Amino acid sequence: MIAPEQGEDLDFAVGEEFAAKLRWADEFVSTEVEPLDQVLGHPCDLADPRRAALVPPLQRQVREAGLWACHLGPELGGPGYGQVRLGLLNEILGRSRCAPVVFGCQAPDSGNAEILARFGTAEHQRRYLRPLLDNEIVSCFSMTEPQGGSDPTEFTLRAEPDGDEWVLNGEKWFSSNAAFAAFALVLAVTEPDARRHRRLSMFIVPTATPGFEIIRNVANYGDLPGTGTHSYVRYDNVRIPGANLLGERGGGFVVAQVRLGGGRVHHAMRSVGLVRRALDMMCERALSRRSGGRLLADTQLVQAMIADTWLQIEQFRLLVLRTAARIDRYQDYNRVRTDIAAVKIALPTVVHDVAARAVQLHGSLGISDELPLARWVLDSFYLGLADGATDIHRMNLGRLVLREHEAHDGLFPTGHLPRLRAEALAKYTAEVPDLLLVDER
Ligand SMILES: Cc1cc2nc3c(=O)[nH]c(=O)nc-3n(C[C@H](O)[C@H](O)[C@H](O)COP(=O)(O)OP(=O)(O)OC[C@H]3O[C@@H](n4cnc5c(N)ncnc54)[C@H](O)[C@@H]3O)c2cc1C
Repeated sequence: MIAPEQGEDLDFAVGEEFAAKLRWADEFVSTEVEPLDQVLGHPCDLADPRRAALVPPLQRQVREAGLWACHLGPELGGPGYGQVRLGLLNEILGRSRCAPVVFGCQAPDSGNAEILARFGTAEHQRRYLRPLLDNEIVSCFSMTEPQGGSDPTEFTLRAEPDGDEWVLNGEKWFSSNAAFAAFALVLAVTEPDARRHRRLSMFIVPTATPGFEIIRNVANYGDLPGTGTHSYVRYDNVRIPGANLLGERGGGFVVAQVRLGGGRVHHAMRSVGLVRRALDMMCERALSRRSGGRLLADTQLVQAMIADTWLQIEQFRLLVLRTAARIDRYQDYNRVRTDIAAVKIALPTVVHDVAARAVQLHGSLGISDELPLARWVLDSFYLGLADGATDIHRMNLGRLVLREHEAHDGLFPTGHLPRLRAEALAKYTAEVPDLLLVDER
């Protein structure tokens, strides 16, 4: 369903009670969480004593405020506020690197929890989901391989049955947070000869299992040396119990899609917070910096830059909120997959354009490592790849839009004016024989 249904009733209202929670979160993130970004290493590194001292007390305050794990419904220990409220909260969290961990909704754990909730047995949920939701452990998602990312038919990591166990062999690339993780969700080939989307199965692999080996932790460009967290992982005869299969054998692709639907929108929600911060910085700079005897804010070029930026952010924000409202309305990611694809496509461009303008406006300071702006330009490329390359979504969206249209009959399109006029004349001449066309009057 591409276009909203006629008269579709989308509700962005959050109510006074939740609005008060948002005001609390805004203040709390500014005063308690953003400063953490300046002193803490990776917020998922549970072994870091600084984290152990600083993060849990803040997490307790978030729980008391009723804002812990807001992406989850009540059956999983979250408040289940829905995607619109989650979106508005995520706009606040997007300002801070550590905020998602403090609020219990960090990727990839949030998506992995959705998978375990949906496909895990009672035992999986007791062993893995419950401690994950309580942030006693963290997890990783192992899908991409060195030779294949976008196309799952290129994946080669095999899982083969051996008695009542599975044995995994192969390599995975960019498994974020594997170095901190207690378990990995691994997509492995179990049915090599099946059709495209039935070749893979999803497994829970405890990272302490012999044969789970991190070859190296890869850093994004611009990260400090030694701080990489995207792991290149080897699975060398990794034996796991048969019961660690998640969902159906050959159904791994369907399982993986569950985590990606919501995750893509959540990244977008947080990015709205990021680009709004960039706009604030642009305005502050324009109102403070003088050149040619006047403020930058008084030059038309800068005013146009600010206007374009504001408009691009607000258009994107509405697209994200509309998508969130449609998820709330239909409770079905598949039904709103065109909206989710659109959000995913728009996301890197908005972050790139806004961050690039902010860099430009700040001159040499903008490009330096004394502001986060150049880093955000790079982040736009990460956002265009994480959870699936943007180009794939662009093609999918194009196909979905085309599927809702038909070819015209005859030589000329249905909007061709001579055709419309001939049809109009044919329609009315029986009633009014001397009818004139508009431009013959
Ligand atoms: C910050 C970050 C975190 C990540 N975390 C994880 C993680 O935790 N777990 C995990 O498994 N993976 C993770 N990834 C990997 C991510 O899922 C892949 O980057 C993504 O799926 C694309 O795969 P690729 O990088 O191999 O690019 P490729 O598949 O090689 O694609 C590169 C480019 O080729 C073009 N292209 C590819 N296929 C097509 C096509 N069919 N038609 C047209 N053009 C095409 C596109 O322009 C695309 O951008 C992460 C990536 C990033 C950047």
